[in-house]
Amino acid sequence: MAKKAFCQSCGMPIADDSYKGTQANGEFSTDYCIYCYMQGRFVQPELTFAEMVEIGRKGLDNNSMPKMQK
Ligand SMILES: [Zn+2]
Repeated sequence: MAKKAFCQSCGMPIADDSYKGTQANGEFSTDYCIYCYMQGRFVQPELTFAEMVEIGRKGLDNNSMPKMQK
């Protein structure tokens, strides 16, 4: 049985190989999920998952709502 793994970047459980990130040589990473780490590189090296969520939320606000007026 494979031991349970979690992404060391975002903390997501890596349930099976389809969720594992990939190394530059095509092997699976056991440390990171596919959303964080692909082909030996971090997908978003500057951002944590929480920061990405925050940016997405701000973008939505800017696009869908007029600026708050005091
Ligand atoms: Zn991850």
